[in-house]
Amino acid sequence: MSLLALVKATIPLSQLQGARCYAKVLSIMKSAVNDATSAQLRTLPSIEKLLKSTMLVPALQCYRHAYVVESARAVLAETRREILSGSETIAVEEEVILRRIVGHLHKTGRSPLRSVINATGTVLHTNLGRALLAKAAVDEVVRAATSPVTLEYALDEGGRGDRDQIVEDDLLALTGAEAATVVNNNAAAVLLALNSIAEGKEGIVSRGELIEIGGSFRIPDVMRKSGVVLREVGTTNRTHLHDYADAINLHTGVLLKVHPSNYRIVGFTSGVALEDLVTLGAAQQVPVMEDLGAGALIDLSEYGLPKEPVVAERVAAGADLVTFSGDKLLGGPQAGIIVGRKEWIARIKKNPLKRALRPDKLTLAALSGTLRLYRQSPHLLADLPTLRWLTRPRAEMDAMAALALPLLQAHLGAEFLLTVEDAAAQIGSGALPEEDLPSRAIVIRHPSLSGGAIERQFRVANPPILGRIRGDAFLLDLRGIFVAEDLVPNASE
Ligand SMILES: *Cc1c(COP(=O)(O)O)cnc(C)c1O
Repeated sequence: MSLLALVKATIPLSQLQGARCYAKVLSIMKSAVNDATSAQLRTLPSIEKLLKSTMLVPALQCYRHAYVVESARAVLAETRREILSGSETIAVEEEVILRRIVGHLHKTGRSPLRSVINATGTVLHTNLGRALLAKAAVDEVVRAATSPVTLEYALDEGGRGDRDQIVEDDLLALTGAEAATVVNNNAAAVLLALNSIAEGKEGIVSRGELIEIGGSFRIPDVMRKSGVVLREVGTTNRTHLHDYADAINLHTGVLLKVHPSNYRIVGFTSGVALEDLVTLGAAQQVPVMEDLGAGALIDLSEYGLPKEPVVAERVAAGADLVTFSGDKLLGGPQAGIIVGRKEWIARIKKNPLKRALRPDKLTLAALSGTLRLYRQSPHLLADLPTLRWLTRPRAEMDAMAALALPLLQAHLGAEFLLTVEDAAAQIGSGALPEEDLPSRAIVIRHPSLSGGAIERQFRVANPPILGRIRGDAFLLDLRGIFVAEDLVPNASE
């Protein structure tokens, strides 16, 4: 209720006319407002009364009693705050409050891990959970979650087994390495490998490779935490083999090479090939380790994508240890994979840190399901969502656009201008940052709404649709969309 309406309704005209000065009018008005506020507060129904309402019967069947009470309290508290802040249109009717409680329960009761539509054009979006699992991998997860499995049990001997064995055979076949082990993520893999082979010693790294990956993974920090003393060599743009050779001494424990994932040094540059480091390391009896980051298992350039280093090639080049992620180009679950020489992997497995960093059975199940696809599937590109998205043909995206466009136009209304345009998608997760994947996008413009305003409209939909803002337009990249209907926002909440 507006102040004026309140005054008119509650203060007799004669009283106001009788008040000589402004201050007096004001004080009469103020006390009238206070009276109205407390009257409104008094009419709020009690929790007990609300809980007896038939409108909450279905809610009380779905949710614990205490959970419904919590919701009712929250809604009442919110309504009280609104009344006290003098909001004009506060409904205190019981039915309105009950409806708000049901809405509150619905909103707070759902999973905080929301499903979203990824129309950002970033295929491996770290903030959206990176790779989507293949169906075969999901089936393995469900099986491992719902039935006892031989996680650490050797059926042949009837005794304790090793959980790495679930994926070791496949990893060796796919990478050509002598041995393999798995931890929780690649950051853990780097930490554990360095700590296992070079704790208390020096690790030599080129200055051009002292990188930071998003989310505070910095090579110098990880080395320090692993107990390895960083020995930087070369310069930011150029490092030569003799820089490494000159730095090697009695305390050297590892020559570390890091794939600069999310950035590139261009121009007058020079780095040392892994092969040359391997020769140097062998001569000086120092192990060579490479943090490969994305770690492709197959050569993506065969499918028209830019070339990324393939794990098997780095193993063949002689790296003693190679570490990489499970949920980047590999397209599996979050995991850190370490492959390499038997003696070093054996040391890693004996490290007490391994126990702290090991993956759970669900991760191993998903990884096993994914790796077996690489080895066995006659149509890997179709089976693995990550590869399917990365290699998606333009014609397929255009066909999707043709289906989605009329649906979107009907939903948004004639004021919105929709076109299908070229766009630049990204692999994401630090892979090939400077190489765009040519993509197609539905571009949405509006004569008076900004790109940001349109973006918001899609982001608050249910499920949220996430795209990209480009100037005054909003883009829905079609690379990761498989059903046209996914792009049409449902009612927001
Ligand atoms: C991504 C990346 C990491 C971190 O891997 P996570 O699996 O995210 O822990 C480490 N090193 C490099 C070179 C990377 O690209």
